[in-house]
Amino acid sequence: MPGRRISSVLALGVLVLAGATPAAAHPGHHPTPPTTATKQPVATGSGGAVVSDTLESTQAGLAVLRRGGTAADAAVAVAATLGVTDPFVAGIGGGGYFTYYDARTRRVSTIDGRETTPAADTSTMFVDPSTGQPYSFATAVTSGRSVGVPGTLATWQRALQRFGRFGLADDLRPAIDVAARGFTVDATFREQVRENAGRFAQFAPTAELFLPGGGLPAVGSTLRNPDLAATYRQLARQGTSALYGGSIGRDVVAAVQHPPVAAGSTSTPLTGPMTLADLRDYRAIDRTPTHVGYRGYDVYGMGPSSSGGITVGESLNILQNFRLSPTDRTAALQDYLEASRLAFADRNRYVGDSASVSVPQRALLSRSFARQRACLIDPTKAGVSPVAPGDPTRGANGCTPRRADTSPGNDGISTNHLVVSDRWGNVVSYTNTIEELGGSGIVVPGRGFLLNNELTDFNFAPTQGSAPDPNLPAPGKRPRSSMSPTIVLQHGRPFLAVGSPGGASIITTVLQILVNRIDLRLSLPDAIAAPRASQRNSATTQVEPAFLADPAVPTLESYGQKFAVTSTSPLDPSITIAPTIGVASGLEFRPHGRVIAAGEPTRRGGSAAGVVVPSRHR
Ligand code: GLU
Repeated sequence: MPGRRISSVLALGVLVLAGATPAAAHPGHHPTPPTTATKQPVATGSGGAVVSDTLESTQAGLAVLRRGGTAADAAVAVAATLGVTDPFVAGIGGGGYFTYYDARTRRVSTIDGRETTPAADTSTMFVDPSTGQPYSFATAVTSGRSVGVPGTLATWQRALQRFGRFGLADDLRPAIDVAARGFTVDATFREQVRENAGRFAQFAPTAELFLPGGGLPAVGSTLRNPDLAATYRQLARQGTSALYGGSIGRDVVAAVQHPPVAAGSTSTPLTGPMTLADLRDYRAIDRTPTHVGYRGYDVYGMGPSSSGGITVGESLNILQNFRLSPTDRTAALQDYLEASRLAFADRNRYVGDSASVSVPQRALLSRSFARQRACLIDPTKAGVSPVAPGDPTRGANGCTPRRADTSPGNDGISTNHLVVSDRWGNVVSYTNTIEELGGSGIVVPGRGFLLNNELTDFNFAPTQGSAPDPNLPAPGKRPRSSMSPTIVLQHGRPFLAVGSPGGASIITTVLQILVNRIDLRLSLPDAIAAPRASQRNSATTQVEPAFLADPAVPTLESYGQKFAVTSTSPLDPSITIAPTIGVASGLEFRPHGRVIAAGEPTRRGGSAAGVVVPSRHR
């Protein structure tokens, strides 16, 4: 389904933890008042770094790093805390993709923790049998039908098994503490409830948790989530089997099969067929990352079931055929918009869950196919969307693009990769989500967390004309994602770790940050803060209002480029939303163990960046 905005991204780094201070007593046993520190979008230093959406989650990660946890341990602590403080975009009711650079092996690994479709679902699960037409997006989202089998806990378990020093119980402690003692509601949290108030009111446990006294939570009030604290404690005692077959799982299944509608509500949400067997069968999957060489860097991303790595990678391969320079910003933007327009056509035609459909990944990421596509780019004319997909079996198809870049490529420099870092130099880049802002709207009764609506990322009906659609629902299948947790290496060492939420605009946000940093030579904080434009093979390019002030825009419009701002909710056009694209975070690794941790200065309330040992100078 078309682009939405929602998931949390975290990037963590620790380079030199020597001298790290040992942890104080485990905080969960001694609740302390909510913190009064404020968020900072940028931090520079060494010894480890964290960027995430909220102050409490960043502090949780830094605390684990100081205790000697690895980047994977800290990532789990951050993600679990986000489930408390950023519950509309994160949590154990969802899924995501975890990428990791292992300093010892110098390899990048990825874990696919995407939600799966229950075994009893079918290809027509989103078709209304009474009309033969697909359900509306809003109907499908707020329902048990859209809930995929959650993958987040299995992802944490797998990441800790492979890369952690501590266990799940240790890494959940900071989140348990925040859930028990509470945190201060800020304007961003309240705004996210406002955008969802109508549908949250439909479900008794959701209204009870997020609509205190029937209204929006007040800015400055303390929100506690004792149910989630108890859920995390149970997971700490019993392990992830408490969800994947145990009593937490039984409660999830009950909520999906019989959504807990509030007394007096007239809504009759669609139910879902998830069973305890679906939960027992769930597996987070180790995947080989995607890899392309770009201007001397090695860019690693997430393969199917996400389309992120392939689409970012194909776009970069196309752009590699051109010179992109800060001295000709108009040409750079034209190439950026056209590369993503073409890559999205190929994504939509060829990419789905590779366990269910055959994805020509190698061909889509080949340099020769990128030449075939680059040949279609006119330097002074916008493509007419929808542009047709290319044929990846035909390679360059005898074509040489204009303005060919003569700088050397670096295919095959390395097949090792990853993202997050600790005293050992490991790096994590991890995007996790419950899909729409507020997921399905269903809090599991007595458990304190929202269930995802990830299955709405499937196409509800075929989209590719007479060609097969790779992203139709099927039992056990994972819906195609756009999540693009990315790690960039230079000479085998980490250079960047970046990612963003934003549905399909995740891909263009990551691509634009890479182009801003590598080609247009902005600093990482500036590359993230810059106004965004997202072209996804549609007639108009979605932009942020500030992008329209770019001096290149009039010329791009004379080429036929059309720009539009989106400021209404995909669920209800009467609800206004901020006209922003993505909420990015990233790390840049500098010489001598220095790391620049950068997030958003303002989008969705800004990010919280922190380092273990701050440096005096940026
Ligand atoms: N469901 C989206 C995806 O997997 C991510 C959620 C979002 O950021 O909108 O592509």
